[in-house]
Amino acid sequence: MKKVVKFGGSSLASAEQFKKVGEIIRSDSDRKYVVPSAPGKRNSKDTKVTDMLYATYAYAEAGNDFKRALYQIKLRYQEIIDGLGLDLSLEQEFQAITEQFKAKAGSDYAASRGEYLNGIIMADYLGYEFIDPVEVIFFDENGEFMADKTDEVLSQRLADVECAVIPGFFGAKEDGSVKTFSRGGSDITGSIVARAVKADIYENWTDVSGCLIADPRIVHNPKPISTVTYRELRELSYMGASVLHEDAIFPVRKAGIPINIKNTNSPKDPGTWIVESTCQKPPYTITGIAGKKDFCAINIEKDMMNAEIGFGRKVLQVFEENGISFEHMPSGIDTMSIIVHQSEFEEKEQRVLAGIHKLAEPDAIEMESDLALIAVVGRGMRAAKGTAGRIFAALAHSGINIKMIDQGSSELNIIIGVETADFEMAIQQIYTIFVDTVA
Ligand code: ASP
Repeated sequence: MKKVVKFGGSSLASAEQFKKVGEIIRSDSDRKYVVPSAPGKRNSKDTKVTDMLYATYAYAEAGNDFKRALYQIKLRYQEIIDGLGLDLSLEQEFQAITEQFKAKAGSDYAASRGEYLNGIIMADYLGYEFIDPVEVIFFDENGEFMADKTDEVLSQRLADVECAVIPGFFGAKEDGSVKTFSRGGSDITGSIVARAVKADIYENWTDVSGCLIADPRIVHNPKPISTVTYRELRELSYMGASVLHEDAIFPVRKAGIPINIKNTNSPKDPGTWIVESTCQKPPYTITGIAGKKDFCAINIEKDMMNAEIGFGRKVLQVFEENGISFEHMPSGIDTMSIIVHQSEFEEKEQRVLAGIHKLAEPDAIEMESDLALIAVVGRGMRAAKGTAGRIFAALAHSGINIKMIDQGSSELNIIIGVETADFEMAIQQIYTIFVDTVA
């Protein structure tokens, strides 16, 4: 068996956390390829090293003396090196960073040093080979990730390497300059490495015991999700559940490698499995609930709309011309509603309304703001009867007015629109009816 293990910033924030990670890796000889993030927060008031690097670089770029700011970053690493009792000096690396900052090497270069330095420490601590991502992870001149070239070079490079540390988050453009993924991108590196070595499992270690059925800030102590499919996760992530960087799914999905989300602070917990498909019955009808606030609805009315061919196209054309993507489009016989992100719509509002009047000649347009959308997601819903009924009953009992309902053709999700003020309560009620009151 071959496992690729990625550790997030909070798992590597201090020497103490590094030791837990060391124990996890040494306890399983299949954990051969390690992808570290930069040191994260040690407590809620702390700053992530990546953020310190961005800030220090901006300060340097503006022509300030950045020595002290960089020294603070150096201290973070020194504390880890000392706490682990390693005989390792990052003096040379920090000299190079100082020179590169002076030469205005760019904020991507600056941010990448967070994982780069952590990777050097990790490789030394484990006795694994260190591999610099600039030699194996590639971006084109427009900054687009080059999946095939990367896979070819990386799989060749790792073919004869028994155990290696490959820092997350960055690679290089073809001209050799450092390029990072978007924030949280070490998840993507882990997935790319897993594909390249044809791993059996991609373990993604973080500070929670997997994905939770609902947001713990809304539902008290929600249960973890034991298995979720890629498609379910996509629906949940889109609606705001944050577990894994969205782009981390593609490389492993392509290669059919399951992801296991695990907790560094509680390694015995099974965590969450993210898989292509499963015949494992989920314990509840729903797999998860997620939601977002700040939508608005544009409700359009026109007599005999149903008979007017092309009406919907004309309305959508106005949104397209104004560069606004719509989220949902529930419709009645003589009505249709377009649901959009409030922030995206607000500044273009009057232009859009004028456009609809001109092109589609409706009888009336009404707008409604402060809507929230809630996605109830679950592969188990296809086989279950009465799912929608249970949701509506739960909300009705709490006096919550449902503004919109939309069930995708995949029967994988039901989207419900409620007033923003009812958002939290609606999620709590849906959680209770499906999870707490399960027979
Ligand atoms: N260190 C980077 C960030 O803070 C990447 C990562 O942790 O995945 O976004």
